[in-house]
Amino acid sequence: MSRAELTGMTCAELTAWCRERDLPAFRGKQIFQWIHRGADFPEMGNLPAALRERLAAEATAQPVSIRTHRVSALDGTVKFLFALADGNCVEGVLMRYHHGCTLCISTQVGCRMGCAFCASTLAGCVRNLTRGEMLGEILCANRFLREREPDTKVHNVVLMGSGEPLDNYEEVTAFLRLLREPEGVNIGLRNVSLSTCGLVPQMRRFAEEDLPVTLSVSLHAPNDAVRRQLMPVANRWSVDEVLAASRYYVEKTGRRVIFEYALVDGVNAAPAQAAELAGRLRGLQCHVNLIPLNDVPERGLKGVSEAAVRRFLDTLSAHHISATRRREMGDDIEGACGQLRRRELAQEQTDGGQG
Ligand code: SAH
Repeated sequence: MSRAELTGMTCAELTAWCRERDLPAFRGKQIFQWIHRGADFPEMGNLPAALRERLAAEATAQPVSIRTHRVSALDGTVKFLFALADGNCVEGVLMRYHHGCTLCISTQVGCRMGCAFCASTLAGCVRNLTRGEMLGEILCANRFLREREPDTKVHNVVLMGSGEPLDNYEEVTAFLRLLREPEGVNIGLRNVSLSTCGLVPQMRRFAEEDLPVTLSVSLHAPNDAVRRQLMPVANRWSVDEVLAASRYYVEKTGRRVIFEYALVDGVNAAPAQAAELAGRLRGLQCHVNLIPLNDVPERGLKGVSEAAVRRFLDTLSAHHISATRRREMGDDIEGACGQLRRRELAQEQTDGGQG
């Protein structure tokens, strides 16, 4: 029998779970609070020892652990490789801003969207993460911080690691609901961003969930022809459909949408393409985030010069489209999604081959 993953339960669900086992209801709240503070059963000091042992035998409290981490000498960014109970691993990145720590988490092991520039998708999607595992990534980062800087914890969460969050819809929405449990990690949804490659029906459904996070849409192109060169998902839904779903999200939540746009040399970075993009975004409450491409040698795609980024930005500004260039962080530790996991897996294979 597989062990119950208590990390994925709300306080009410955990209370019901305790009741089913003839435990007093208040145990549910106690266990919930411990879990969200990052504790495993042996550390749950206000539970009787016999109960802790019983719980450890039939359930898990912390399904994620840190397998390796690297700290950037440039800016203190921490890249984590998180280990999951079944031997899989996913990446997370902790970035430090003056307004607090932001953790970028993964939502799937790998990804099946197939974007040409993305390292996470090269080996396809292995499986979805559970709601408890996504929360577990945050709990790990909080534990890591607490051991080093007692007053710091994760303030903002971005769903921009490996995986397509809206391709794991049920678990991701349940995870977002867990974040706002009052006795839990207590991260408000205004401090959460979800990034999607543009799964149109799920975007519309998500707009109706009353989970008003910041929606980031990976657009990367001003039209269908260019988008199809970079993103297979563009064969399924047109730029028009993606923009209409984005507009719907703005209407339903009152929050502006962020469009992500990685500049790829010779593909989507010409000033005329910036003007075309501006024309399509006119009237939409949005902001464009220009991302310098992290080269993925496997795919032969290259980023552009600083001057080209500036030109693209200036063209958007001249057309009154709000836009900024994303700051690069953790450049020395393979901060970009998918890179560290690929390196580790390749290393394992080499080691395995030698041994
Ligand atoms: N699947 C989601 C979230 C994960 S990717 C999505 O597509 O939005 C997070 C962001 O990183 C996306 O905008 C993605 O397009 C971008 N990205 C992926 N690989 C990149 C690379 N090599 N260089 C720059 N940005 C990249």
